[in-house]
Order: sequence, then structure tokens, then C-alpha cells
Amino acid sequence: NENLILQSEKLKLVGELAAGVAHEIRNPMTVISGYVQMMNEDPNSPYYEYTKLIQNETERIELILSEFLVLSKPQANQYAPINLAEALSEVVQFLQYEFQSKAISLNIINEFLNITILGNKNQLKQVFINLFKNAIEAINADGSITLQVCKSKDEKEIYIQMIDTGCGIPPHVLERIFEPFYTTKTKGTGLGMMIINKIVQDHQGSIQIKSKQHVGTEILLTFPIMTE
Ligand code: ADP
Ligand code: MG
Repeated sequence: NENLILQSEKLKLVGELAAGVAHEIRNPMTVISGYVQMMNEDPNSPYYEYTKLIQNETERIELILSEFLVLSKPQANQYAPINLAEALSEVVQFLQYEFQSKAISLNIINEFLNITILGNKNQLKQVFINLFKNAIEAINADGSITLQVCKSKDEKEIYIQMIDTGCGIPPHVLERIFEPFYTTKTKGTGLGMMIINKIVQDHQGSIQIKSKQHVGTEILLTFPIMTE
């Protein structure tokens, strides 16, 4: 479909532009936040409240920049065979504390499937991190997240399904979920799903979302399996 190709080309350009801008802003931001941090060391300073504010806002800018940086164009030689189980277990380890602090039970089915996809490991890990974070944020307490990995019948594709028992996504949110900066959270950036969409498309994959309010959300990613 011509329209779809145009759309994904556009998405690619926007991603590279965003990553380029993020990269350029990062250096001056490092200097600013370094000095603000220094100024903020004295709680008796008459400017303490102001510097605290500046510090909070610079932290927010840095969060947004870090989300965009992952869109940097990977060099062709950065696409390598990625062991899916390995990437997933690194992400789970990274988020261990957040699962525990909300008493979320994590069920991983087919954890040891030895599947290889061709891609960029950091980007794929970012996809899983963003998905897990949304699932964690959707659960108040005591919910569960289930991750199931399996192959398609013809063994050409891998399905990665994440099911959470969170608040669910109402239709008017689902409609706009991939829009940059669209968020329903007070501290959200609205970039997570846009970045997932971009990375999954770059990897020739696809995303399907099914959700029911007050029941939970099911997100299905499909990627081509690398064949030798
Ligand atoms: P952010 O998490 O910063 O708000 P995202 O792009 O990751 O931005 O998500 C956009 C919106 O989609 C969220 O604000 C939330 O309303 C909704 N959303 C995404 N994933 C889920 C989920 N698993 N359960 C419920 N709502 C979700
Ligand atoms: Mg998010």
C-alpha cells in the first residue's frame, strides 16, 4: 500500500530529526543541569525554591531527550542477530524493583524460546521497557503482567504478547495512542507508544492492541524471525 509506505518513510524522517535535535540539545542541557545542581546544594540560599524548580524542569527535559535519542538512526552494521530471550531477561532484571514495589506478579511463558531477530538490541529493549512501564503504571496494585512468546505456524514470525490486568484503554485514548506527546498521565511524556511504533516499524514488525476498560490490555507485537 502506497499510503502506508509514505507514512513509514515520514515516520523515519521525523524520528531521525527528533533524535538529531535531542542530541544537539543534550550537551548544553548537561551544562545547565550541572550548574543548577551546584546552586541547589545550599538550602539556605534565597533562591533555593527557584533552583529546585529549574532542577525539576531540567530533569523533565532530560527524560524527553532520552526518549528521543533512542530513535537515532542505527548504522546498517548495528543491526545484528538479537537473542530475544536474552534481551527480555535483561529488561525484566532492569525493572525488577518496579514490579516488586507494586506487588505485580510477572508471568513469563516460554521464557527460554531461543529465537533470533535481526535488529538493534537497545531499541528492542526500549520497546519492552516502554511496554512494561505502561503496564506497571496501568496497575494500581496487585495486578499481573503476562508475557507470552511464540512462533507463527509457518515459523516465519514471532509473536510477543503482553497482557496486563490494569485500568484498560478507553476507545478515545486508543485512537490517539501513537501520537507524540499524547498522554493521560500527569507525569507522562506521551512518547512511549510513539517510540514503540517507530522502532517496531523499522524492524518490519507490527502492533495490535486490544483493551477493555477496568479489565486490562493485550498488546501483540509481531516480528519476522531471522532465518540462517
Ligand atoms: P505515557 O506513558 O508517557 O503517558 P505512552 O505513549 O507510553 O505515554 O502512552 C500513551 C497513553 O496510552 C497513556 O497515557 C495511557 O493513557 C495509554 N496506555 C498505554 N499503555 C497502556 C496500558 N497498558 N494500559 C492502560 N493505558 C495505557
Ligand atoms: Mg509510557
